[in-house]
Amino acid sequence: MHSRTCPFCREAIHPEASACRYCQRELDPAPPSGKCRSGWLVALALAAVVTAGTAVLIRGFLKERRHWLE
Ligand SMILES: [Zn+2]
Repeated sequence: MHSRTCPFCREAIHPEASACRYCQRELDPAPPSGKCRSGWLVALALAAVVTAGTAVLIRGFLKERRHWLE
């Protein structure tokens, strides 16, 4: 775990801290890599659901069409 430096007092603080423990000033929320990864996971899951839904729809459509052709 690497630490980062408070932009106001230059003290080493926790990388995910939302406020400095030394000068009590609010900090920009650091972009934690975990958040980014979960975002990707959500996007991936969404894509999988959309793909599966489309596949089911196409399957159903083909099935229906076979009924029409008969
Ligand atoms: Zn500080």
